[in-house]
Amino acid sequence: MQSGNQVVIRISKLIVIFSLSAILSACALLGSEKQKVPEPYETQDFFMGTIIHQKIFGENADEAAEAVRKRLVDIESKMTINKPGGEINQLNEMAGTGAVSVSSDTAYVLSKACTYAEMSGGAFDPTIGPLVKAWDIMGNPRIPPQGEIDSLLKLVDYKSIELDVKNLKVKLGVKGQMVDLGAIAKGYSGDEAIRIYKKYGIRSAYISLGGNVMALGAKPDGSAWRIGIQNPRAVNGSYVGIVEVKDKAIVTSGDYERYFEEDSVRYHHILDSRTGYPARSGLISTTIIADFSIDADALSTSTFVLGLEKGMELVERLDGVEAVFITEDKKIYLTEGLKGNFSLADESKEYAYGQKG
Ligand code: AMP
Ligand code: MG
Repeated sequence: MQSGNQVVIRISKLIVIFSLSAILSACALLGSEKQKVPEPYETQDFFMGTIIHQKIFGENADEAAEAVRKRLVDIESKMTINKPGGEINQLNEMAGTGAVSVSSDTAYVLSKACTYAEMSGGAFDPTIGPLVKAWDIMGNPRIPPQGEIDSLLKLVDYKSIELDVKNLKVKLGVKGQMVDLGAIAKGYSGDEAIRIYKKYGIRSAYISLGGNVMALGAKPDGSAWRIGIQNPRAVNGSYVGIVEVKDKAIVTSGDYERYFEEDSVRYHHILDSRTGYPARSGLISTTIIADFSIDADALSTSTFVLGLEKGMELVERLDGVEAVFITEDKKIYLTEGLKGNFSLADESKEYAYGQKG
């Protein structure tokens, strides 16, 4: 019925800003004329269903970029469910039947996914796969009939992932279950990129995986990276505020990234594992700042589903994790530790700080 739906896919979630008036996009480095900025080595690729942008300063930058490229292709081939082959596809095919052998990469990401599923009370659930497939936001989007949603919801249960990390074996308990690592695999890839940059002696770089940003060190002049948070209701490249970071992951989940509309209702790609529908928690964007992007990625999706109150509670409980939440009434909420490190820079003048409690 909804085969003609227009799907909106937005790549930009976080924008690296070199000066307030100069947004760094695509390949252009807009440096100050007075200050001599070293030339970065830049690449743009399309992997993991998104644009990967690397910007690396220092010697060996080209070799590091190439090594990262190879590593990302390797991770994608193991974890994707959008192309044939791969370990997660094998695991899904064998659901309810038997265990499969996986690489230490996949075992690690699965174990992290289970940790966040537990921590979020199942709001984040890597076994959401059957519902993701039914909504098919990236392919032929449709609103599945309620009966279909109800029966697929029975398959969503991260507790049926039987993971033997020591022997690198994993099994899905029930036939028809499907793991989908779309909410966490890019996060892992970001961490792997940083590990590789360091191995090549790089001290200043950033990588954006479809807007999931990892900033290594500081900018070459020693100042913090300035990351703009996308205005969830404006065109790509407009931001509502800026976070300053060094050596951090910044990951955003939003209802504007992949969605279709029907009868003026927005159906987006982050599903509520309790209802089987796109999450309607009152949030339209969540940004997590953490040391590792695997954590930031899992937490941005988790908190998006949990909503402002529970999401804030979860993040405030964790050491070294900060967040920016944006609600549908265009209010911005920050964790305590981020205050002073975030500046409201809303070109649309529609957003304001919200009052907690
Ligand atoms: P992200 O953009 O990181 O928030 O991840 C969204 C992607 O994760 C979706 O495109 C799905 O592949 C998957 N996903 C959707 N809902 C959930 C959920 N509740 N828990 C875990 N993964 C999800
Ligand atoms: Mg995520």
